[in-house]
Amino acid sequence: MHGIVFNVQRYSVHDGPGIRTLVFLKGCPLRCLWCCNPESQRARPEVEFFAAKCQRCGRCLEVCPQRAINPDLEAAARVDRSVCDDCGVCADACPSQALRMVGREMTLHEVLAEVRKDASYYRRSGGGLTLSGGEPLMQAEFSAALLRVAYDANLDTALETSGYGRWEDLEALLPWTQLVLLDLKHADSAVHRRLTGVPNEPILANARRLAKAGHPMVLRVPLIPGQNMDEDNLRATAALAAELGGQEVHLMPFHQLGKDKYARLGQDYALGELPDLRLNGQEPLARARRIFEDAGLRVQIGG
Ligand code: SF4
Ligand code: SF4
Repeated sequence: MHGIVFNVQRYSVHDGPGIRTLVFLKGCPLRCLWCCNPESQRARPEVEFFAAKCQRCGRCLEVCPQRAINPDLEAAARVDRSVCDDCGVCADACPSQALRMVGREMTLHEVLAEVRKDASYYRRSGGGLTLSGGEPLMQAEFSAALLRVAYDANLDTALETSGYGRWEDLEALLPWTQLVLLDLKHADSAVHRRLTGVPNEPILANARRLAKAGHPMVLRVPLIPGQNMDEDNLRATAALAAELGGQEVHLMPFHQLGKDKYARLGQDYALGELPDLRLNGQEPLARARRIFEDAGLRVQIGG
C-alpha cells in the first residue's frame, strides 16, 4: 500500500506527548488563508521552484514536454501552472535543485521504517508517531493502515486532523489512535467558510462524536490576528470547546514561516502582513488564554 507523503519530520515536541516523528500526508480539502504548508494542499506530487538556486542554465526549458517553462530565465514565475502536469522531468534535469518535486509515494513499510528510527527516544519521552497533513482523512485507507502498524509495533500514535471528512473514515482510525488533535478555527460557519473554504458543521459534528465516544482529544485553536481573535469569536470557540468535554485546549499563535512557499508553488499569499504572535503576542495571547480559562478549560500556548 502506498501513500503520498510530503515530509517526515523527526524530533518534534509540539504535536502530541514526548518526542515525536510527524508524517505529513499530501492533500487537504481546506484552504486556510494562513496555511503554513501550502505544499500540503494538492493531493498529488507537484513541482516547486526556488528562484535563488537557479543557475539559468536552461536545462529545464530544453526538457519540459509541456513547454511550461518560462523562456525568460530571469522571471520569478518559472513554471506556467496552467499547462504544467507535474511530471517532474525538469526537477530530474535541474543541476541545482532549483526545481524540486514535493510529495512522493511511500509504502507503508518505508514510512514505518522512518518512524521506528527514533524508537529509543519515544520510549524515554513517551513520544511516538503523529500522523498529520494536509488532511489524513484524504488518504483514509493509508492512514488507517499506517496507524495500525505503528500501534501494533507498540508506538504511541496521534492524529492531527481538521476534522473535515467522513465520520466513517475518522471512526476507522480510532482503534489505532491514542490521541486526536483537532482544530477549531472559527465558531461561525459562514466566517469559517470564508477563512478556510469549508463550513464548520461537519467538523463540529465529528468533534461531538469523538467527545461522545470519550476518545482522548486535544482541541487546537489557531489565533490569527484580525481573522478569529475578536472577543465574541474567542468566547464562542471557548464555549464550543467546553461543550466538547472540557478537554485541554492548545492556542496556536500565528506566524508567517510558510509565506515564502507560496511563490515557490506559483500561488499568492492572500493574508498580507500580520504580526507574528510568537514574537509580539504577549498581550493578545494572555487575553485569549483568560477567555478559555474562564470557560473552565486547561490551556496551553503552542502545540
Ligand atoms: S534547470 Fe534548474 S538551474 Fe537550470 S535554468 Fe532551470 S531551474 Fe535554473
Ligand atoms: S513538472 Fe513537467 S510539465 Fe511541469 S514544468 Fe517540469 S517538466 Fe514541465
